[in-house]
Amino acid sequence: MRFVDAHTHMELLAFRQVPADRAGSVEELKRMILSSPRDVVLSWGWREETLGEPLERKHLEDIPKAVLLLRMDAHVGVVNGRLIEMLGLEESERFDPERGYLYEEELWKVASTLKPRGREMAHVLTKGLRDASSMGIVEVHDFVDGELAEIYAGLEELPVRVILMPYYEDYERVVEVVRGLKKFQLGWVKVFVDGSIGARTAYLKEPYEDTDGRGVLLKSHREIASIIERLESEGLRISLHAIGDGAVEECLKAFETARPKLPYHRIEHAELITREQALRAKELQLLLCLQPNFTPFFKETYIKALGKKRFKRINPIVMLDELGVDMIFGSDMMPFDPWFGFDYAKALLGERKAKYYYGGWRDEGRYL
Ligand SMILES: [Zn+2]
Repeated sequence: MRFVDAHTHMELLAFRQVPADRAGSVEELKRMILSSPRDVVLSWGWREETLGEPLERKHLEDIPKAVLLLRMDAHVGVVNGRLIEMLGLEESERFDPERGYLYEEELWKVASTLKPRGREMAHVLTKGLRDASSMGIVEVHDFVDGELAEIYAGLEELPVRVILMPYYEDYERVVEVVRGLKKFQLGWVKVFVDGSIGARTAYLKEPYEDTDGRGVLLKSHREIASIIERLESEGLRISLHAIGDGAVEECLKAFETARPKLPYHRIEHAELITREQALRAKELQLLLCLQPNFTPFFKETYIKALGKKRFKRINPIVMLDELGVDMIFGSDMMPFDPWFGFDYAKALLGERKAKYYYGGWRDEGRYL
């Protein structure tokens, strides 16, 4: 198999200082943290499905180390009192000191202060790309800021083809780095429109099943439309992170306003896209990047957050395929193993189509 993993965050591998994804309980996770030689322990990969309960600050207070633990989706992270003190974190809309929960931009700010840099990150990337190659991946679309793009530029070995996907906040610096480097191709520029279902920050049309909120809209359609226009004027395309049906609606309105000239602007995830929205996406020649792996991986979270009826609509790859909407697939590192999602997609779509979407249409390759 020759996979294209069209949505990766290789830098998350650098946060895996203890394998939180393998912990079967909060107690086991605490033992892992205690046995680490580090004073500040970072990890990524916990989820309530495997721990048996949501992780909170109260679980981590008796650990004599500063701790930041990113949930698998990287839209929420838990910190303990020592870390709060170390960084002087103060309560805000995106930080709940009681549960120790950091959300979205506030989380990424803290994570980027603490993340490994330089040679340590270069080593993590090289190892991650080797692992990718051994799983049959030939190409990854990896999200980067300028600093990470520079680390990529310095790598001696590239076991798989890497398409660099700049974060909007830093895209000019990434473009600068990629220009003149033959070994990389520039991908789409990433803009966050909402959060995740697990963190209850994906922006929905109807409230969550277990909270009153509808999630968080990070950019309005007007803001998105002006970003699309700016990027297109530089020959670049956008990749919009939009999970909830409310967020997908903002994206579609933005495209309908901006009327882009370039084909295959992307929406990432589109987990709750409706049939009507899918037809508009097709009309606009958009490319949807879906994660079939999410459905089996987050099933319990989805049902709790959305209810059984809405759960049936999640990650509708069969509906999108039937309507002929252009799709590619990517793992989003949950888990970082294309076979997990491939087997699930194969059961729904059949082998030939699963290969087509997971191969990034390699025979045609026309979206790049
Ligand atoms: Zn992602």
